[in-house]
Amino acid sequence: MFWQYLLIFISGTIIGSFFNVCIYRIPLGKSIVFPGSRCIKCGGRLKARHLIPVISYILLGGKCSYCNAKISARYPLVELLTGFLYTVLFAKFYWTLYFFKYAFLVSLLLIISFIDMQIQIIPNGLVLLGLVMGLIFALIDKYYPFSGYLLGALIGGGLFLVIALLSRGGMGSGDVKLMFFLGLFLGWEKTLLTLFLSFVSGGLFAFTVLILGLKGRKDPIPFGPFINTAAITAVIFEVEIFRFYFSLF
Ligand SMILES: [Zn+2]
Repeated sequence: MFWQYLLIFISGTIIGSFFNVCIYRIPLGKSIVFPGSRCIKCGGRLKARHLIPVISYILLGGKCSYCNAKISARYPLVELLTGFLYTVLFAKFYWTLYFFKYAFLVSLLLIISFIDMQIQIIPNGLVLLGLVMGLIFALIDKYYPFSGYLLGALIGGGLFLVIALLSRGGMGSGDVKLMFFLGLFLGWEKTLLTLFLSFVSGGLFAFTVLILGLKGRKDPIPFGPFINTAAITAVIFEVEIFRFYFSLF
């Protein structure tokens, strides 16, 4: 059992290093396949020993071996996060369709979150990928009705569309599209939980930075990362959260 977990974790960090390439190249409109990885400062071609997830970063002291430019901590962070989340999903779902479905979703959300935090845009190509894959997973699921997934998409996307129209730009169209395909992945129960968790966490965050004077009333706070964190939490802890909620009565 331990070896399976270790294998999943290591696979996750390797796949996560590919996500780093996506996070860097997709906003620039570059191919995510060619050419091979290079230092973004000096263009030095990275060798195999530079490409071991997390370990290379530590051995290099977080610096390029050619030009000594600092390598962003985002690289090992995304690798570790991917490995960690895959392992947690595997512990919960084992070798079922849900493991692959949610591993795909978590991967897409990681890439979207880090791009959104950098450029405040959710690329349409990634939204489309989410829609298509969400639809496929919903159609092949034998244990949950397709109508439940469709309802999730309509509730999530619909509510955010209303908020976007009422707030006149306060909520971006990217968040509406994100919430629509998330609903398709999650079904209506987890969608409601995601909405609740994202409003609570996003609200608390906004309240805190306002009180501490870190941001003004007019400064935009990207909501995407809160939605994504809430969705991942809903997938992993749905049962525990509902059990806790109903134990309150
Ligand atoms: Zn370099």
